[in-house]
Amino acid sequence: MSAPTGDIGLIGLAVMGQNLILNMNDHGYTVVAYNRTTSKVDEFLANEAKGTKIIGARSIEELVANLKRPRKIILLVKAGAPVDQFIDLLLPHLEKGDLIIDGGNSHYPDTIRRAKELEAKGFLFVGSGVSGGEEGARYGPSLMPGGSPAAWPLIKDIFQSIAAKTKDGEACCDWVGEGGSGHYVKMVHNGIEYGDMQILAEAYQILRDVVGLNHDEMGDVLEEWNKSELDSFLVEITRDILRFKDEKGKPLVESIRDTAGQKGTGKWTAISALDLGTPVTLIGEAVFARCLSAIKEERVEASKVLKGPEGVSFTGDKKAFIEDVRQAVYAAKIISYAQGFMELREAAKEQGWNLNYGAIALMWRGGCIIRSAFLGDITNAYRTQPDLKNLLLDSFFTKAIHKAVPHYRRVVSQAILLGVPVPCLSSALCFFDGYRSATVPANLIQAQRDYFGAHTYELLEKPGTHVHTNWTGRG
Ligand code: NAP
Repeated sequence: MSAPTGDIGLIGLAVMGQNLILNMNDHGYTVVAYNRTTSKVDEFLANEAKGTKIIGARSIEELVANLKRPRKIILLVKAGAPVDQFIDLLLPHLEKGDLIIDGGNSHYPDTIRRAKELEAKGFLFVGSGVSGGEEGARYGPSLMPGGSPAAWPLIKDIFQSIAAKTKDGEACCDWVGEGGSGHYVKMVHNGIEYGDMQILAEAYQILRDVVGLNHDEMGDVLEEWNKSELDSFLVEITRDILRFKDEKGKPLVESIRDTAGQKGTGKWTAISALDLGTPVTLIGEAVFARCLSAIKEERVEASKVLKGPEGVSFTGDKKAFIEDVRQAVYAAKIISYAQGFMELREAAKEQGWNLNYGAIALMWRGGCIIRSAFLGDITNAYRTQPDLKNLLLDSFFTKAIHKAVPHYRRVVSQAILLGVPVPCLSSALCFFDGYRSATVPANLIQAQRDYFGAHTYELLEKPGTHVHTNWTGRG
């Protein structure tokens, strides 16, 4: 048999797999394609892959036999049991030093486990976040690979060539770190995406219900925002959504049932933040806002009973207030990303990962849903100070948040006075006020805990000394 010519194998010919294969083929790599239902291999070769040098495999043996050593195989199958099943099917045919890459949306504890198990057997394993959907996979996704460090030199060229590029030509892909860090970073990316979406949803409600703009006016406002610090994919698509009319000429967005779906990655981010004891409040509120949206029938019933403020309306300068809202969105985003990076830092500490925060911001800079100009500023902040404790303490962002916060306070106060719910905007502002406080009222919490549970408290004057007080004087 002649020497194998496949540079990399890919299992899973659904939307993501097919597009990633075509992307790798475009960049000159010979890809060997396999799928559980092998008829899909034939269909793919006869259609999308026609005229390419993609090799079809109808069995695991054929897939492996067509790959150059050390073999590199990407799994793009449903997350969960199918990943473990394919690993079990592959291992008897692989040799030590071969690499399995899971490009699906796996939960990071699974990736930590798989990396440990495979490394113990002498194989290499990578869990890679892949973001950008179908379009990203085809023309340039954001790729977040982490796992066995020895795997990176084997895939660096392929991954960086197929990844999205920034305007300066930098690849939105770098090595994230050990174990499950690639999938962890992808999970936090998704959590931040939940936050960014909810911030824009709150801004939309304020512009519509407080300022009283119509949909074309809101589209124009977002068009302007997209030329500012808020320049991003999500602002761009929101502008288009607001302008979109149905066949009767009405804004389509108003005909959509107001219950938001979720697949779980935002929830995982919030759960991990709670487990780590990190105050990632904005993402948490974004997840809860989707939960509140989902109880539509109960909200409809409650709306007939519970009253909001009456006889009040916005009377200020509309133009100035729209700028307040823009600054509020910007400030909330800064706080949300600061919280997201706090979570990454705590997870890295707990898991022993060596994360490169500048590279992570760069990976999110293009190709993915949260791509934005703003991520370029975050990359700069971490590149100049890799040990930066918190994004809010970087001089660029300190200045930006100081400028935005007076506007931000006006927006949150106005929304609260008028009874417009702004869970993300308000909680992030409260976080900011708490984070910048040398003292918070937790002294009272400690006194209460000691009162009812004898949990003791520490005296400011005597650090490290824990004392209990008999608060009632009773024996
Ligand atoms: P998908 O619908 O999640 O999965 C379909 C693929 O998984 C098919 O190849 C299917 O094989 C295989 N599969 C399903 N159940 C299986 C089982 N029990 N045993 C073996 N194989 C099984 O495909 P996708 O949307 O392309 O996504 C692939 C991965 O990328 C997922 O983890 C997804 O979460 C992640 N992802 C998706 C997107 C997106 O925009 N779609 C974006 C980023 C990441 P058969 O053809 O034989 O059924």
